[in-house]
Amino acid sequence: MSKLDLDTPLPTLSPIGLARLGATFATETPATPMAGLHWGAINHAFADELGMTVGAIEAHGLTVLGGNAPWPGGPPSVATVYSGHQFGVWAGQLGDGRALFLGKLQTQRGDWELQLKGAGPTPYSRMGDGRAVLRSSIREYLCSEAMHGLGIPTSRALALVAAHTPVRRETIETAAIVTRAAPTFLRFGHFEHFAHHGKPEALRTLFDATVEAYFPDLKDLSINEQVNAFAARVASDTAALIAQWQCVGFCHGVMNTDNMSVIGLTIDYGPYQFLDAFVPDHICNHSDHNGRYAYNQQPQVGYWNVHALAQALAGLTTDVEALAASIQCYPDAFTTTYTQVMRDKMGLVVPLEGDGALINDWQDLLAKDGVDYTIAWRTLSHAADPTMMDPTQPPETLARWFIDRAALGAWWQRFTERLQRQTPAEQATQVARMLARNPKYVLRNHLAQDAIRQATDGNFTMVNQLKAVLDQPFAEHPAYDHWAGMPPDWAKTLQISCSS
Ligand code: AMP
Ligand code: MG
Repeated sequence: MSKLDLDTPLPTLSPIGLARLGATFATETPATPMAGLHWGAINHAFADELGMTVGAIEAHGLTVLGGNAPWPGGPPSVATVYSGHQFGVWAGQLGDGRALFLGKLQTQRGDWELQLKGAGPTPYSRMGDGRAVLRSSIREYLCSEAMHGLGIPTSRALALVAAHTPVRRETIETAAIVTRAAPTFLRFGHFEHFAHHGKPEALRTLFDATVEAYFPDLKDLSINEQVNAFAARVASDTAALIAQWQCVGFCHGVMNTDNMSVIGLTIDYGPYQFLDAFVPDHICNHSDHNGRYAYNQQPQVGYWNVHALAQALAGLTTDVEALAASIQCYPDAFTTTYTQVMRDKMGLVVPLEGDGALINDWQDLLAKDGVDYTIAWRTLSHAADPTMMDPTQPPETLARWFIDRAALGAWWQRFTERLQRQTPAEQATQVARMLARNPKYVLRNHLAQDAIRQATDGNFTMVNQLKAVLDQPFAEHPAYDHWAGMPPDWAKTLQISCSS
């Protein structure tokens, strides 16, 4: 770690928006201290973005980010209440039983709400202990930053503090806290909470504050127009987010409405998975028995969730039909982003007729042979130099991943011809452009698992190395080539459940 900086204090925090709205929305809750705090990781790059020095975090942060002391000079920490639909069923109040807001940090790059996840029970914990285990905290820390490295909207992670405090799950584990950050952690479930519990005034207060803080361009509209525009914005941002998940092969695993951000961030990393083999109906959450949140269900589930949000907003408008119409932008927004990202992955600069089929047929080939998703795209990128391509035969580096080589060969010919229709300048940069869009490294489950295993023994080296590689997933990291290879056999039997 770096040199302690005792002279620089932690920056000043102010109360988050919901805390200003009063006790209906947020309850002052101190963190519950833990034993044996120690650093797991500090995110240097993100600390920088927040205008904080790692030295100052190291000097003053362990007890604060470990929940054993309040943020110096900060507002009281608060928990906010929300509800949601879990696996399609209304579940009532369920959150936030374990996330505490430290406050809002104003930076040159905007405002960030800081949260401790797993800092002990809150008034909303129900039967829970308010804790998060080390295993799930490492997964959240790493994936937040892996997503950011991929350029996909996400909450961020500033630090990981581990403790010796025991936590009971299926077995006894130890507790940890991730300090996470986002411009806002408002979820669909915050709005559902007040709508479904018959609190229209509170719903209106929440909505007005949301518009004021995060959708200021809607401020001068009538309330009906505001509601429609807000719903439309959330619908299209959610669609765009999920399109990006699909393109990178990310499966969230628990797309309950309480895990959906109103500003289109990926939040609440649990039993997520980056696909190894491309299996479209893959279920990554061991507790998802019916596959509601399977990889290929995500686009529809996102739309379902947006409907649930619209239903919660219905009490705010006198024109429910217009509200319902406003979220119908979702399918087009999804297709627009999906098509654009896929075209970028294939390096197709100017749209031409037949591109959609070319992309879909490639995905079908991957699915038919269960080819490793990340490796396939990365290998295709290296092979896509139009000056070297033999249309009659894909290179062995690519072909070796496929069973049906005849089908690959037929597709390869179309791909070659398609690339040769691009300009010479576009052809010259084809490989580089594709490599910049198709990551070499993703946070595969087995990599996270190895890092967890080592950290459980007290060694956080791999956590920090993985984080550094995943910060730049499109770059070569020769020392870590083995993290870009096929997963080991045991990865297939790894089971990740909701337990966290
Ligand atoms: P999740 O399925 O992880 O999104 O969890 C749903 C909600 O359950 C969250 O909003 C948490 O507040 C709550 N929760 C999860 N685990 C715990 C816990 N150990 N103690 C208290 N609340 C919890
Ligand atoms: Mg959650």
